[in-house]
Amino acid sequence: MPAAQFSLAQTAGASFGRGTGSLPSLGDNSDLSTAAERRIGDRIAVSIYRDPDYVDDPVLGDYLQGIWQPLMAAARARGELSGELDERFAWEMFLIRDRSINAFALPGGYFGVHLGLIGTVGNADELAAVLAHELSHVTQRHISRLMTQQARQAPWMIAAMVLGALAASKNSNAGAAAMVGGQALAAQGQLNFSRDMEREADRVGFGVMSDAGYASRGVSGMFEKLQQASRLNDNGSFPYLRSHPMNTERMAEAQARVQLANAATAKPSPEQQAVQSQAQLLHAMMAARARILAVPGVDMLRTMKAEAERRAAALPAPASPASSTSVRDAGALYGGAFAAAQLRDFAAARSLLGRLRPLTADMGLASQAVGLLAIEMDLLEGRAPAFAATADIGKAGSRAELLLQARSLMAANRAPDVSQALQGWVAEHPRDATAWQLLAAAYGQQGQKVRAIRAEAESRAAQLDYGAALDRFKAAQGLMRSEPGIADHVEASIIDTRTRQVESILKEQALQDKIDR
Ligand SMILES: [Zn+2]
Repeated sequence: MPAAQFSLAQTAGASFGRGTGSLPSLGDNSDLSTAAERRIGDRIAVSIYRDPDYVDDPVLGDYLQGIWQPLMAAARARGELSGELDERFAWEMFLIRDRSINAFALPGGYFGVHLGLIGTVGNADELAAVLAHELSHVTQRHISRLMTQQARQAPWMIAAMVLGALAASKNSNAGAAAMVGGQALAAQGQLNFSRDMEREADRVGFGVMSDAGYASRGVSGMFEKLQQASRLNDNGSFPYLRSHPMNTERMAEAQARVQLANAATAKPSPEQQAVQSQAQLLHAMMAARARILAVPGVDMLRTMKAEAERRAAALPAPASPASSTSVRDAGALYGGAFAAAQLRDFAAARSLLGRLRPLTADMGLASQAVGLLAIEMDLLEGRAPAFAATADIGKAGSRAELLLQARSLMAANRAPDVSQALQGWVAEHPRDATAWQLLAAAYGQQGQKVRAIRAEAESRAAQLDYGAALDRFKAAQGLMRSEPGIADHVEASIIDTRTRQVESILKEQALQDKIDR
């Protein structure tokens, strides 16, 4: 997180919570209610959805979810995540287009992950270590306890302060790697976690990530990166590292935990080793993807492409998968191919992709990621991928596959198949705004105007922008009045019902705003 944020933290922080103030003892019952915390989180979420640096990249999204879901399951199984929190909180992650290294928990079960974090960590275990730590800040109700201390602040004020910190963090010059290890964004600005809370999140997070099957090297790797950043920046220009407990105590506790875990870990079986190699390959490629999506500039794209071409020329033929060299090669080739496609050098992109394929053949998610990149290249070039004429989109195995196939089929004029597949998806995932938007486009392509407007309305509602959603629903109603027969009875009644629901949400919010003031 860029340093600029802290100027705000320093001015606002004095009256809004400090890192080392005295706290109620852990586990006391003065917590903010889950409903109140969720409301604050929702207010923040609405603004993040609107932020141009919020990215919904389905490929990286699936990658993060693949790490996140096992952590959630482990937290449930360990009893850290209560049924109430599980149900009431959003448990949603925002990918943020930012090259700095950061992940943070927000009120209400929302989390932010910078592309820079994914692009920098060495493996999925390190990512899991950070995410498990952040998850634990929420499951241990640290955020709620800090906000309770600020109970005299109206919730809208707390949300505004957190958003102020977010906005202030948008300083693109603010260099590298300061904010590893994950503080709540809120914490960086106003709601600094205490030392005890950090230690608790370290301890609980370590248990969660271990139970989820991640290696303890994730924690040691992450702490080494933190220490390095801290050494590089000991001039005090990084208040996070100054005020934040990257202290010997925290370090020693982590080392002891890692040693204990390592002693108890049996040597991995050949099957486990195979799984680990696949995970390494996948991570190398996803890290390269994150670096490119962070918009590194043309020079960096050219460098990545040249590096990939250098490696491609040196590849033994046939290349052997799953060595540590091939992991680096796969990352470089994926990055180079994607970079070349961004540079619109599609010949080079396809040539690099061709070199990447044998390295990832039969490597599970890693091979899938390569297949998805091939689809993206066609779409970037503006042509319908070859498979789009015949593909059965109903068989998509992941969200990324579904959404990329949907875009491909649209390019091949198969909108009816797209709307059918996406209708099924949004019925199960009504908060998927991107899917709603694609569905709107598919309806539009078929000339189904009312349905297209309704899908747009739902995409606004999915991102909690109920005012905009209501506008669209009313537009659909207006269209039905002016062109009777344009929509069938079922469609009309769905729109009426949803209009009333959204109106009542807006009324409730207005009422809550009055109470909060
Ligand atoms: Zn923390």
